[in-house]
Parts: sequence; C-alpha cells; structure tokens
Amino acid sequence: MAKVSINLATGSLQKEEIIVGIDLGTTNSLVAFINPDKNPQVINDAGKGVLVPSVVHFDQTGGITVGNEAKNYLITDPQNTIFSVKRLLGRSYADIENYKNLFSYKVIDDNTESLVKVKVGDRFYTPIELSGLILKELKERAEHALKTPVTRAVITVPAYFNDSQRQATRDAGKLAGLDVLRIVNEPTAASLAYGIGLNQEETKTIAVYDLGGGTFDVSILQIQNGIFEVLSTNGDTFLGGDDFDRAIFEYWVQQNNLNAAELAENRELTQELRLKAEEAKKSFSHQSIFNEKVGDIWCTIDRDTFEQLILAKVEQTINACTNALKDAGLTVEQIDEVVMVGGSTRTALVKRKVAEFFKRPVHDDINPDEVVALGAAIQADILAGNRKDILLLDVTALSLGIETMGGLMDVIIPRNSKVPTKAGRQYTTSVDGQVNMKISVYQGERDLVKENRKLAEFDLKGIPAMPAGLPKVDINFLLNADGILKVQAIELRSNTKQEVEVKPAYGITDEQVEQMLMDSITYAQDDVQQRMLIEARTEGEQMVYTAERFLEKNNAYLSIPEITETQKYIQALKDSLTSGDKDLILKKVDELNDYTRPFAERVMDMAISQAMKGKSIE
Ligand code: AMP
Repeated sequence: MAKVSINLATGSLQKEEIIVGIDLGTTNSLVAFINPDKNPQVINDAGKGVLVPSVVHFDQTGGITVGNEAKNYLITDPQNTIFSVKRLLGRSYADIENYKNLFSYKVIDDNTESLVKVKVGDRFYTPIELSGLILKELKERAEHALKTPVTRAVITVPAYFNDSQRQATRDAGKLAGLDVLRIVNEPTAASLAYGIGLNQEETKTIAVYDLGGGTFDVSILQIQNGIFEVLSTNGDTFLGGDDFDRAIFEYWVQQNNLNAAELAENRELTQELRLKAEEAKKSFSHQSIFNEKVGDIWCTIDRDTFEQLILAKVEQTINACTNALKDAGLTVEQIDEVVMVGGSTRTALVKRKVAEFFKRPVHDDINPDEVVALGAAIQADILAGNRKDILLLDVTALSLGIETMGGLMDVIIPRNSKVPTKAGRQYTTSVDGQVNMKISVYQGERDLVKENRKLAEFDLKGIPAMPAGLPKVDINFLLNADGILKVQAIELRSNTKQEVEVKPAYGITDEQVEQMLMDSITYAQDDVQQRMLIEARTEGEQMVYTAERFLEKNNAYLSIPEITETQKYIQALKDSLTSGDKDLILKKVDELNDYTRPFAERVMDMAISQAMKGKSIE
C-alpha cells in the first residue's frame, strides 16, 4: 500500500490531490477548485451548468436524482421531491415549528427534541442524508470534470449556523465520501475570493451582504493576523429574490384583472407567470422595460415600477445592516470593505441602496452566485499548504469531544481548529432524579467513542435531583497555545463545578494520528450509518420511557381500550429497537406518536381545567 503522509500542521493527509471548495446552498449548490494556473474556478461538468439545484427526488423504484432533473418534479411529484433541506439541517422540530407548512414533503414531528426527519414513502431520511446526496452529486461531477478522484473538501455554512448545524454539515460530507477538512463561514469565503484577508498584516472590518433566492443575511467580520472573527450577523431567513418575483407576479395579476382564486387553481399558468416574472426581474440588469406575453396575458413592467414594488423589501435588508452594525458596536465609517454575495445582489436597486448605506462602492466584480465556492477553493488551497505566502497557524490534529448517549462521540472542538480555542455545549440528564453525570473526554474522528482515544473521565456530582431534561450542564473545552486542554463542567442551577486538565498530544505518535485519520476516512460511511441507528434507538428508548410514564400518570383520564392500544404501540416500538433497522424504529416512533397525540392534548386540557378550578377569577 502506498504510504500516505500526514501534514500535522493541517491534520490533513498529503496526497497529490485536488481539494475542492463546496458551497452547499439552500437553493443551489456548486463546487470549485484551484486550476493549474492557480486560479479558483467553478466546475461545470459536461455543460450541465455550474449551479446544481439543491433538490433531491425519489422515484417509486428507489431511484434518486439530484439537481435540475429533480427540480422538474417539484410541480409533478411534490411529496417525493425535497428542496430547501439546508433549512432543516441540524434542526429539531421545535426549531422549525413556525415554518413547517412551507414544505410540500412530510417533515416528522415526533414530539421530542431530536433532530427532524423527512418521510418519503416508507423511508425516513435525516437532513444529513439528504444533504449527503447533494454533496455526493457535487463530488461526482467534480470527479467527472477533473478526471480524478476527489475525497477532500472545504464546505461553507452561514456564519449564524450553530454547532449542531455545522456538525450535521460535516456528517453529510462524510456520508458523501468526503473528508471535510474545514467548515468555513460563507462570508469568510466570499471575502477570500476578493483577496480580503489574504495579507496577514492587514486588519480590516468588512460587511458581507448576502441576498439569495429565499434568504438574506449580513455579517460583520473582523480580520486580524489572517483570522476572521464574526462580530455580528443579522438577516431574515425568509427574504430574497423570490419575494421580488412575487411582487412582479402580483402586479401582473392586478394589471390584467386576473381572478386570483381561478389562478390559484391553475398551477401550470401560475408557474409560467412566476417564471416570466423572474425573467423580467433578471432582464432589468440590461434593459429598462419588459414586455412579453404568456398565453393572452400581457406581462409588461418597467424598471422604475419594479423598483417601487421591491423598495420596502430592500429597505428591510438595510435595517438589518443597521442592526448588525449596532450589535457589532460599530459605525458605518468603521467598515473598510463591503462584499456582495447571492444572485439577487445583481438587482441594481440593491447595489445602490447598499453602497449608499455603507457610503462606499461595493465589491461586485465576481459572479455573486459563485463567489462563496471560489473562496472555499482558496481556503482549501491554503489548507493544502499550497500558498507559501500564508503562514499556517497551529491547529488541532484530532477532534476533541465527549461521550454521549449510546456511546457516541460528540465533537466539541473539531480537528483543524486553530489553537488557542474554546468551545462549549449544554447537556442535560436523561433519567429523572439523576444526581451524577459521567463525563468522558475523547480524541479522534470516529463516531463511536470506543474507536477513539480516551483522554480523561470524571464525575460531575451534586446535580440537584430534578426531572430528566431540567438540569443544565455546560461543558466547556479550552485548548491553550501549549496544547493543554481544560475541560470544565458546570451545572447551572446549583453552580456545581468540576474540571480536569489533559494534554491531548501526549503519548500519541504521528503514526498513530495518521492511522486514526486514515481509519476515519475508510470507515466514514459505516460510521455515520451506525450513528444514525444509535440516534434512532436512543430516540425510541426515550419515547418508550415518556409514553410509559404518561400512561402511569394519566391512566385516570384514559379509557381501557386507549391504554391497551397505547401499550401495543409501545411494545411494537420496543420490539423494533433490537432490529438494527433505523427506518423501522422511526416508523414505530412515528406511529406511537400519531396514536397518542390526540389524547396527550386532551389530558393537557383536562389538567389545565383542573388547575383552573379552585382558583377564583376576580
Ligand atoms: P442564489 O440563491 O444566490 O443562487 O440567488 C438566486 C436568486 O438570484 C434568484 O432569486 C434569482 O432570480 C436571482 N437572480 C439571478 N440573476 C439575477 C439578476 N440578473 N437580477 C436580479 N436577480 C437575479
């Protein structure tokens, strides 16, 4: 076997291989690389286009398509066509409660705090698997276009993504067979594409304004010694170019006196008008009047009217910029550069308003759809050590984390993080009255802690006895410049504290680190599958626990048949736990949940009315 050496500065394997940069977007995704001329370039495989719609379609026979082809099914087969999966990544049902109606496919509410799933036919997909399918398509396109295997990538995420969303993105990469060298913030990548931050000496404050098809965000970044720090972010996850299209569409409905109710029935015509509206919007980049017909409906609009229609929306984005500045504690004058990202920043009014607000010309020379992926490719190139002018900072060679339910590794500081660094997460208890919590610290890339290296273990004692889920335990990892890791656990309600210090690099050789990295790549897909099975099992066990306690506590409110039937569903779920089939377990969770939901609500109402009795209302 060929010996592969490892770059300990980056924790990456050194092979003469291209590392790609991937922009995994809500609407579109794309991949870029550094070409032989040392310039970043987007990949257009076999002329299929640079932008790959982030859409996945499942057909009856189990066939999966991704991209443009899948997008065609959005109208003809909406239940089996998944779009906007980025909105679900790393999210629990409670997180998306307010906009669950947006999805035409089935998003599962299992009443727990676990991450959401999507039901397609008889199968349950996690957003990680769905994003994994999109990444796999991008990987394959890159391999086909570059005629070489692609196994390493840098993937971008919004600056506001939390830990769980970032981890989910890493896992999606793993599932696609990619070794994710680093997760990079989209605004950071966009700045790099403009060369901002490449000079180690410069200190700058920049604003990155990102207006896509359906989302808007603005980030204020500070760059110092080549390190990007996010000072603030603001935005609206439901504002974008789609709103501009809708404004034109509604204008035409009004101009042509179309009957809105009739139009709503005619999906094909609606869709045609929507597409025409988008076409009109885009045409204003090079003309000032649009005049076409759909059937016998005149679609006419000029640029001034368009600008009036969208003014309020654009001003909304400017308000967000004001808020972002305020949160960062800065004035407009303190912003050195403004970078434009996202297809909708091509709109002339948007450019004018943003430049006016920041009182300076904006960076808009690079294609705003491609700028993030191009920057990700530059970041990949830096990590590969190909840019001699850039000093690589000390990074952690292996991930650091703790053991959670089912023996899973929960990464707190991912590998390749710059040192010094600190990170933390909040945990809780899983059993009522639990007063101790065992904290086991591990190092490594595998999903099961038993495959990783244990660094330390301690008990956090003296947690006040409370129902499961109520105690709040903060676990903080602090890794200092000398490579010493301090792990601190604090129960916030009682202020109980415990900490240990270890040196992760102690007692491990470079060869062992290398082997651990190799193994993590070899077993990546199996590992993620296993993680998903364990997570499904843990979720199932929790559901059994909750349902049994519910029966115990509320049997007075339930009829005998209801109790026996619930017990049957609980038993079916229990039986499935040993099956090793995650879809079966999730199906049983879903069924038990569907069955008990109506009387869970009823019991809640009764409990409230009981509580109200005896209380007099003045
Ligand atoms: P993104 O989500 O970044 O891919 O942005 C896609 C959005 O950019 C869609 O709403 C497109 O309609 C919009 N877009 C693309 N080209 C133009 C253009 N020339 N003028 C205005 N909006 C555009």
